[in-house]
Amino acid sequence: MKIFKPESIYYEKQILDYPLGKELMEKYKDVPKIEIENHNNIEEMRKKENKEFANMKRNLIIGTRKTHKFVENHKTSDYLVPYTSSGCTAACMYCYLVCNYNKCAYLRLFVNREQMLEKIIKTANKAEKELTFEIGSNSDLILENTITNNLVWTIENFKDTNKGFLTFPTKFDMVDSILPLDHKGKVTIRMSVNPEEIINRVEFGTSRLQGRIEAINKLKEAGYKVGILIAPVILVDNWKELYLELIKKLSNELSQKVKKDAFFEIIFMTYSFVHTKINEEAFPNAINLYNKELMTGRGKGKYMYKSDIRKEGEIFLREQMHKYFPNNTIEYIV
Ligand code: SF4
Repeated sequence: MKIFKPESIYYEKQILDYPLGKELMEKYKDVPKIEIENHNNIEEMRKKENKEFANMKRNLIIGTRKTHKFVENHKTSDYLVPYTSSGCTAACMYCYLVCNYNKCAYLRLFVNREQMLEKIIKTANKAEKELTFEIGSNSDLILENTITNNLVWTIENFKDTNKGFLTFPTKFDMVDSILPLDHKGKVTIRMSVNPEEIINRVEFGTSRLQGRIEAINKLKEAGYKVGILIAPVILVDNWKELYLELIKKLSNELSQKVKKDAFFEIIFMTYSFVHTKINEEAFPNAINLYNKELMTGRGKGKYMYKSDIRKEGEIFLREQMHKYFPNNTIEYIV
């Protein structure tokens, strides 16, 4: 994949007090810079129209993370942890990070990583049981790592702690820099996959399916625990055909080692009124993911698939998974 080069950098002055802040300013010394007060409130960005959504993502925002609140979670981790970035340079049309119109979907990097990792380590050490921390729920850390090297830094600084595990999902295949690390089995990487046609039409700027499959095999070979997210499942007209093809391809191309114990998560797409507005203006030629025949409202401008339709999808996917991945667990389908 082409490495991201920002068009401009918006930065908070205090980032220069941190080694990573200095490093990034040096790395991008040729890129135009604009000083900002607070990464949460960039006046210039707030005024932009929806059609500029994709262009806004060409910028990089660098600041410090001020709130470090862990949120309890009961899926594949114990806590969702705000970590070193938020937002993303890619533009999946359903991305749930698209909050508040176009105000916070661009990539923001937070340079106070020492503080954030320390809080994770302290919480892990204090807990009675082994905790797993989801560090990738606000961004894509494999993508972020190509800019900051933060994942390499995190794994190296976490591996010798007494307790705790880290996990994160990704849609990117640039995993080579973490393969040689001595991670001591403390990190689980969950690769998100979708049929190639859906990646092309909906997940703009992410890695191809082939690259993601190869990345899963490489990560497993390097000793990482791996999971596979079939997510989000999007019920386009020929969804059965597409998802069956995907499951067969995974079954044929994932290594025996992966197939031995990888676990799956399956998530149906949710969508929102905000997505509809941004996407119709930012990507006028793209597919419309809102389908009023299949979807229903679930409060606050959110849409989800109707329960009978979702059920049909779930039954179909469970059957196919049972056939092609009889030995692998599906942690949940939501
Ligand atoms: S890769 Fe993930 S974070 Fe980035 S736009 Fe897609 S869904 Fe959002």
